[in-house]
Parts: sequence; C-alpha cells; structure tokens
Amino acid sequence: MMKDKFEIYHREGIDRDVFLYGENICRKLEERFRKIDETAEINQLKVINAMQECRISEACLSGTTGYGYNDLGRDKLEEVYASVFHTEAALVRPLIACGTHALAIALSGNLRPGDEMISLAGKPYDTLEEVIGIRPSRGSLKEYGITYKQVDLLPDGNFDLPGIRAAIGPKTRLVTIQRSKGYEMRRTLSVQQIGEAIACVKSVRPDIICMVDNCYGEFVETIEPSDVGADMTVGSLIKNPGGGLAPIGGYIAGTKECIDNAAFRMTCPGLGSEIGPSLFFNTSFYQGFFLAPVVTSAALKGAVFAANIYEGLGFKVLPDGKEERHDIIEAVTLGSPEAVIAFCRGIQAAAPVDSFAAPEPWDMPGYDDQVIMAAGAFVEGSSIELSADAPIRPPYNVYFQGGLTWPSAKLGILMSLQSLKNEKLVTVPSGEKA
Ligand SMILES: *Cc1c(COP(=O)(O)O)cnc(C)c1O
Repeated sequence: MMKDKFEIYHREGIDRDVFLYGENICRKLEERFRKIDETAEINQLKVINAMQECRISEACLSGTTGYGYNDLGRDKLEEVYASVFHTEAALVRPLIACGTHALAIALSGNLRPGDEMISLAGKPYDTLEEVIGIRPSRGSLKEYGITYKQVDLLPDGNFDLPGIRAAIGPKTRLVTIQRSKGYEMRRTLSVQQIGEAIACVKSVRPDIICMVDNCYGEFVETIEPSDVGADMTVGSLIKNPGGGLAPIGGYIAGTKECIDNAAFRMTCPGLGSEIGPSLFFNTSFYQGFFLAPVVTSAALKGAVFAANIYEGLGFKVLPDGKEERHDIIEAVTLGSPEAVIAFCRGIQAAAPVDSFAAPEPWDMPGYDDQVIMAAGAFVEGSSIELSADAPIRPPYNVYFQGGLTWPSAKLGILMSLQSLKNEKLVTVPSGEKA
C-alpha cells in the first residue's frame, strides 16, 4: 500500500524524503482533521436545512435572461443565503463580479457624502485601498466626500477597543472589519472576537453600520459574523461559499435596509434587486453552496498540513501548526523572491489545469507591488481552488489557500516543498530517520 502510494507520488516528481516527511506529518494530524470534519458536518446540515425550509425545487435551478423579473431561482437562493447567515435579506448575484465589487457596493450603497467610515482591523485588503481612496483612485469613496480612518489592531492581534471607542465621532456612519489577514502577516480574527468589536461599536452608537469582509472565512466555524451582530457580511463566490462550482459572483447578507441600499448601487436607484437575471448560474450557485462546507473543510486540512510541513522545517508560518483557525489562508514567510517563485511553481505543477505553466510575478490591477499567483483552476482566479499568491515584497510571505479536495491540497503542498528542495532552498530530513 505504502509502496504503491509512493509510486504514484513519485510519478508527480515527489522524492522519497519529501513523501515520507509528509506522511509522518499526516499521521500527527488525525485529531485535528476529525474536528474539521465535525465543523463541516454541522455546516452541511445548516445548508441542507435552509434549502429544505426555503422549499427549493427543480424550477429554481433554471434561470432567466434580460431584466430577470420574477427570477424564482435567484430570489430563493437569496433566501437560502439569508437563512444560513441568519439575516433578513441577502444579495447573491452573478452581476457582482468579485469580492471587491461586493464590498464596494456594500460601502457605496450605504455611505453618503460627509459620512466617515472606520476600518477596525488596520489597513484593509489591497484592492479596497482604491475603492476607499486610501490610494488616490478615480471614482473612489473619497472623491464622493466620504472620509476614512483606521484603528490598527494591537500588537497581539486583538482589537484595540479603547482606540475604537475614541475613534468614533459624530460623522461615523460605518465600520468595516476584515476577518481574514488578506496579504498581511497578522492573525485572522475569530467570529467571537468580531462580535466583541461590534458590541463595542454598538455600545457607543447603535446606529453605526457594522460591515464584515468575510472573504475566506465562510464555513470555517459554525457561526458567521452575521450571528454576532454584523449588519452586512460580504464575500466572494469564487472563494468558500461558491464551493468551487460558482464561476463568478459575490454576496452580501444583512439587514433589509443595508441590502436594499447596496442593491441600488449594484444596479441603479429605483431598480435595486428587482432586476438582474441569474442567467445560467443557478445550478452552480446552489450546488456550490451545498458543497461549500465540505470543500472548505478540504481547504482547511490543506492549510493545517501546510502549517505543519513548513513549521517543521523552521519557517515562520501563520497560523502556526497547532492553533485554532478562522480562515483558509496559510501564510509562510519564505525570505526571498526565489523561494516565493519556487513555492508557487510547485503549487502550479500540482494543478489539474495548466500544470505545465510556470507562474511569473506581474503588475496586477488593484495591487501596489508585483504579485505572483499560482493557480491551475477550473474557474479563473478561483482561490477556493488550490492556489498561492504572493506580493513580491519583504519578508516574502506566500499565502497559500484552497484545494477542492484534501488529496489535491496535499499534493500541492508536497509539490511546493519538492520545488523548493529542487532549487536547494530547503533541506528536508532524510526519510530513513522519519
Ligand atoms: C479575496 C479578498 C477580497 C476580494 O477580492 P476579489 O479578488 O475581488 O474577490 C477582499 N478581502 C479579502 C480579505 C480577500 O481575501
């Protein structure tokens, strides 16, 4: 068995030392994986429950075109999301091009000239800098007279609650909290921590809108930010909730008032969520959401495996090999551009699509530094699929995420290690001793 298994890995280019090192780590992770499976089980039932309660029928799986009036499948899908997130309403659309777009319409729909927004978790995700106008940008919120402040997280990664209280002023209309670390080397926030920050804001002024950028966080825990008081929870369908099947899309789940406001930006004033056909995406949206809890669990196993593999070789990893996880991203500090490139090439080589391509750093729209991305995905840019990204800047962190299945994630990580080893950028202990 073990011999057959090595042979199939060897065909992928994995040598004996890397293989045995990986197998050894896997044996130590059984208890962790059991807990991940349990979370997936609870979330799976949550989704099935919602689909049953919303009485999803075969008719919901076909779509509409044109204006999309009376699009049953679209409306019911939004009910399903609202049910899973425990919110009054939701917007789940192929017209939302990506996570940044969803966040942008949530912000611009709910803010007015003269309002102030505050980020409670420090600098937001790179692409939001231009949405907000932190970096000058055409059409930014700043150009519309919306001001921005941020409160940094404390050095230990927790919210600065006194700082948040002090920052809130008469103009503060909205606060935004980014759950995941994004391209930062900081801890991802737990849903419970997010709940504490929201409670703090609401204790100062209950009418302040609390928005959470939930990208990469969906189904990692058994509760979502909307369960702890978020007025809007926002994410991308080519990450966790799309389950790898959604070919595009974003969602916002929240209060009816906030969702309506966002909808008037998504389409236009007056039309809101009434228009916007689901086109031919309903089946993949429903089926993807159905699969999402288990797909997310596969990605989580990959992240835990990666943490333990690289930690064991002396690299700085975040989160570390043992701690509780709140998103699917694993950050590894590789220390040099060469190592980042080698890591990404290994991930790419493990992909089902475009495995023969060699990723290169490039100037990606919305990002300040050059970025390298490894992804051999069925959906372009989908990062619930096995992928790695890294801005080319010191200390040369690579951010690894995804894997629609656990074995594919495992292969990706072993290939990344093999690639580093082949470039003589790492030493893997001899398998004989393992
Ligand atoms: C992915 C991501 C986004 C949105 O990115 P898109 O590429 O536009 O979907 C926003 N915030 C965080 C933390 C993310 O990880």
